[in-house]
Amino acid sequence: MRAAEDPDLDRFLCAVAESLGEKRVSRDGAGSGLALQPAAVLWPHSASAVSKVLRAARVHKVAVVACGTGSRLPGMLAAMAAGRFVLLSLRDLAGVHRVEPEALWLEAGAGTPLADVQRAAQRVGCALAGFEDAEPGSVGGWLGRAEGLPDPILGLVQPAVLGLEAVLPSGEIVSSVPTPRSACGPDAFASLVGTGGVFGVITRAILKLSPEGGQRRTLALSFARLESACAWARGVHGSTYPPRRAELWVDRVFGQEPPTFRAVALFAGHEQLVEASLRYCGRKGGELEGTPLPESPAWEKGASPAGELAHGWIRWSRLGPALGALDGRIGVPSRVVVDRLSPMGGRLRVFSVQPDPAGEVRSDSQRELDDLLAELDPQMQASGACWQAFSRLKVALDPDGLINPQAWPLGPRPTGDRGGGR
Ligand SMILES: Cc1cc2nc3c(=O)[nH]c(=O)nc-3n(C[C@H](O)[C@H](O)[C@H](O)COP(=O)(O)OP(=O)(O)OC[C@H]3O[C@@H](n4cnc5c(N)ncnc54)[C@H](O)[C@@H]3O)c2cc1C
Repeated sequence: MRAAEDPDLDRFLCAVAESLGEKRVSRDGAGSGLALQPAAVLWPHSASAVSKVLRAARVHKVAVVACGTGSRLPGMLAAMAAGRFVLLSLRDLAGVHRVEPEALWLEAGAGTPLADVQRAAQRVGCALAGFEDAEPGSVGGWLGRAEGLPDPILGLVQPAVLGLEAVLPSGEIVSSVPTPRSACGPDAFASLVGTGGVFGVITRAILKLSPEGGQRRTLALSFARLESACAWARGVHGSTYPPRRAELWVDRVFGQEPPTFRAVALFAGHEQLVEASLRYCGRKGGELEGTPLPESPAWEKGASPAGELAHGWIRWSRLGPALGALDGRIGVPSRVVVDRLSPMGGRLRVFSVQPDPAGEVRSDSQRELDDLLAELDPQMQASGACWQAFSRLKVALDPDGLINPQAWPLGPRPTGDRGGGR
C-alpha cells in the first residue's frame, strides 16, 4: 500500500523525512532488492536517527524491518503474513571505528559488511572470531541471527559480542558498559543477539578477534560408526586451540545402506598452534578408530549452503534417532551435515542434490524437520516457559509487535508448535 492510500504511513514518512532529510527516505520502496516490496525504504545514518524512526513507528503504528545486506531477509519475509512494512536499511551505519589488536576486539557499525570487518582485522594480523570468509552479511544481521560462537581461546560456546549499542522499540538508545572480559553477572543485552532483531535494532557492536597466523590446514577422517564420529566432534573442543571450523558429514542415499560418516575440520592461525591442534584432533580420531582421508579442496570449502533443505539444532545423543527418522520424512536428502559444533551438539543441516527452484520442497522440509526435532528433543528446542518469557518481554518492549515482525515467528516456540528453524 502506498503512502497516499494510507494516512498513518503518510504521517510516519513525513515525520521521518523531517528528521532524517528527504534524501534518506524512498517513498516507493524502490531499492530494497526484495521480492516482497516494502512500502518505503529508510537509510538512517546514526543511532539517534534510528531512534527517531522507531519512535515515529510507534506513534503511527508502522511495522519496521531492519536490513543489513539482506542475505537472510527474503526467506524470512516469505514466511511473514502479508502486511505493510517499512525497510530500515543499516547500510549507512557502516564503518570500523576502532581496532584493538592487543585486546583482541574491534568496534564496527551495524551496517558494516562482515567482509570489510574481516579485512580490517587482517590488517592488524587478526581475524574476526568465528567468521569464515565466504559468509555473507553485515555485523547487525549476523548478530541478529548468531546465538553464540565457539570461543577461539576457551573452546566453549560464548556470546558472539563483547558489547553492543542498540535502539529499543520505544526509541531508547542503550549501550553496554565497557567491562573487562573477566567480568561476570547477568548480561542484559543477551536478548538482543540471536533473536532476529525482535527486541531492538543493533547500531554498533564490539566484536571479538582471534590472533591470525598464515597457516591453514585441514583434517578429514572417516568413521565406521556414528557414535565414534560424535565422540570426536564433542572432543575437538578439548583442544587448547580448537579448529576454525569443524563439521560432520553424513552421506546417505535413503534406502541404501550403509551411510558414511566423515569429520572435516579446518585449522587456521599461527603455525605452532595449528600444528598442535591438528595433532591433537588427529590423535583423538585415531583413538576412536577414525581413518585419515587424503587432502582435498572440499575439506577447506566445507558444506556450502547450496541445496540446503532445512536446518535446526540437535544434541549429540539425538543425532542417531534423527538420522533414522529423517528416512522418508524429508524429500530425498543425500547429505546431512552437523556444523557449528559444541560439546552439546550442533546445527543439523539437510541437503538435497535435486534442484528446488521454487523453494517448495524446502519450506515443507523445514516444517518437517522442526516437528521432528521438537518430538525428539523438546528441551533443546525452546521450551514453552522460555517462549512465554520471550513473549512477555516482546509485549513489554514492543506492545504492537512493530519491530522486525518477520523474525518473531522464528523465535523460540512451544514444543510441537510449527515454525521456521533459525
Ligand atoms: C559465525 C556465524 C554464526 C552464524 N549463526 C547463525 C545462526 O545461529 N542462525 C542463522 O540463521 N544464521 C546464522 N549465521 C548466518 C547469518 O545470519 C548470515 O550469514 C548473515 O550474517 C546475515 O546478515 P545480513 O546482513 O545479510 O542479514 P539480513 O538478511 O539483512 O537480516 C537477517 C535478520 O537480522 C535482522 N537484522 C538485520 N540487521 C539488524 C540490526 N542491525 N539489528 C537487529 N536486527 C537486524 C533482520 O531484520 C533479519 O531478521 C551465522 C553466520 C556466522 C558467520
